[in-house]
Amino acid sequence: QEAHKYSGVVEDCCCNYETVDHLNEEVLHPALQELVKTSFFRYFKAKLWCDCPFWPDDGMCRLRDCSVCECPENEFPEPFRKPYHKGLSPEDLICQEGKPEAAVDRTIDTKAFRGWVEVDNPWTNDDETDNAEMTYVNLQLNPERYTGYTGPSARRIWDAIYTENCPKYPSKEFCQEKRILYKLISGLHSSISVHIGADYLLDEATNLWGQNITLMYDRVLKHPDRVSNLYFTFLFVLRAVTKAADYLGQAEYDTGNPIEDLKTQSLMRQLLFNSELQAACPIPFDEAKLWKGHSGPDLKLEVQKQFRNISALMDCVGCEKCRLWGKLQVLGLGTALKILFSVNGQEHPRQTLQLQRNEVIALMNLLNRLSESVKIVHEMGPSIESIMGGQ
Ligand code: FAD
Repeated sequence: QEAHKYSGVVEDCCCNYETVDHLNEEVLHPALQELVKTSFFRYFKAKLWCDCPFWPDDGMCRLRDCSVCECPENEFPEPFRKPYHKGLSPEDLICQEGKPEAAVDRTIDTKAFRGWVEVDNPWTNDDETDNAEMTYVNLQLNPERYTGYTGPSARRIWDAIYTENCPKYPSKEFCQEKRILYKLISGLHSSISVHIGADYLLDEATNLWGQNITLMYDRVLKHPDRVSNLYFTFLFVLRAVTKAADYLGQAEYDTGNPIEDLKTQSLMRQLLFNSELQAACPIPFDEAKLWKGHSGPDLKLEVQKQFRNISALMDCVGCEKCRLWGKLQVLGLGTALKILFSVNGQEHPRQTLQLQRNEVIALMNLLNRLSESVKIVHEMGPSIESIMGGQ
């Protein structure tokens, strides 16, 4: 494997590229890959059918792969199911793509997820309490990858995000807080592009999927700032996860299957209290230096409002699967922001931190997606660059 061209400390963070790559490879990536397969972490509750508050729906993407396959009820662990559920028909076992009604009991939160609260997140726009419109999706059956969603609809979302809500600040003269919002979004955008390139429909006629290295190079690798922002976002989210370690370590990951639930608990502890991580990169991002000075509280409200707008924009993503992953990852970022920056600008006393179950699912799945992208960039970046750079 060729060496990475990125070295030194990741901008605005506290760890080196080499350390991040090593920790990701050895510790984070393997544990996260296992974690997201567990029952607790693979079902995400989302409101997928929603009106865009900003402009009328303008048509969808052309591939069948755009649509989300909703969970059939029998797929869920026992405590999630409706009490009167009896025999299964063969169709129940098939992924029910495009099915309008969810087969799951929408009150399962109170039954299967005891111990999790419904508290508002000031950074996001999602209304998690509106159970009637929510659906459960098995994330493992709906991977983030190429969907064919492109053109003016997709472009309009990214343009609205960047121009209205987090413009690229040209230099350090702008405050660090606003730069950080831009970098978080840019890092997420890089990660989405890496996943599109890593799992791409190369030939529609034969349904051949594979890597599109030109796409990965053009959209991410040839822009060092986009690679740097990906690492930044990864470290930012990692910091949030480790900062909430006490809370997350004690939370209930109960899905009614004691063996699997113990595994989830143990994987979480492995990630949260990892001695190698604590020794090599104890504070991946130093949030304590933000929101200082007398304008701090106002600035925070302004950035919070911008992020909420970005969260609302996810309802305008015109491709169901992209909307699912867009919502999940923006909720994950909003959860990281909530953990790192309390509402009133003070440090969170640990015991006051409260997270929704869905926020934790989003946070850990986002960390996993970022970890995958960092791994792909680290492992494939140098060879793709030498192929593409030489052309
Ligand atoms: P885009 O990726 O649309 O980028 C638009 C412009 O933004 C670029 O021209 C550039 O100026 C700037 N830009 C690009 N990357 C960065 C960066 N990292 N940092 C800063 N600026 C940047 N498509 C899928 O196939 N699968 C998905 O799962 C998927 N999920 C999506 C989720 C969301 C929330 C959105 C908005 C779109 C999603 N898309 C998805 C569409 C995809 O992101 C692209 O918009 C689409 O493939 C068209 O790409 P493009 O080449 O026009 O560039």
